[in-house]
Amino acid sequence: MKRISIAIDGLSASGKSTLAQGVARALNYLYIDTGAMYRAVTLFALREKLIDREGQLDEEGMKAALPRVYLTFRFNPGSGKSEVCLNGRNVEKEIRSHEVSRHVSVVARLPEVREKLVLAQRRMGETGGVVMDGRDIGTVVLPDAEVKFFMTASIEARGQRRFLELQRKGRSVSLEDVVDNLKERDRIDSTRDHSPLMQAEDAIVIDNSDLSIEQQFDHMMACVQQVLHA
Ligand code: C5P
Repeated sequence: MKRISIAIDGLSASGKSTLAQGVARALNYLYIDTGAMYRAVTLFALREKLIDREGQLDEEGMKAALPRVYLTFRFNPGSGKSEVCLNGRNVEKEIRSHEVSRHVSVVARLPEVREKLVLAQRRMGETGGVVMDGRDIGTVVLPDAEVKFFMTASIEARGQRRFLELQRKGRSVSLEDVVDNLKERDRIDSTRDHSPLMQAEDAIVIDNSDLSIEQQFDHMMACVQQVLHA
């Protein structure tokens, strides 16, 4: 059977990664979380003190430091997920912090950062058999992907979802801060000049405010099977 590329884009905390992982597992495809890559670059920028107290990014410093950023994925059999490594060290936990979430969109809008990561993502996707999630996958990274989804949900549903996820991980952050962060990231991600968050014309839209994970998974798999058997 042919091995296709599946692009999943959407708003922050719209449940992309849970579904993308499920679909990848069911098809025995590689799952690539491109948000994790932008988060890892942000962690690097924070460690290198390239972001000041006001959240301003030292753009020249970031560009100059980019050759020192080396990202890889390593499969963790415990979580069943490929986890991102920054310069050889697994940073999966650190990149999910509220601190990284607060600054990631400012780092992700720098064209040089995007060029570097998009190149790496295209390389990982060129053989097919891949499920990639992010903001610009169906429009920029894999415009020829055979199946494209665009996931969206109300801000209430997304905020609650991310808040519970962080609480489960023992992170102390208020629902209000989580919602503010999601709104701010969506605003920056959608309005940046370089490859903004956008629905591809041929994407299948899924509003999952009132859908269970099982319902979304079944719908997505039915769409994929249709293409695989066409
Ligand atoms: O997917 P996640 O919410 O972890 O992504 C974190 C941030 O990384 C997004 O808010 C966005 O700024 C950036 N991102 C991006 N392009 C992608 C994936 C993520 O700009 N393909």
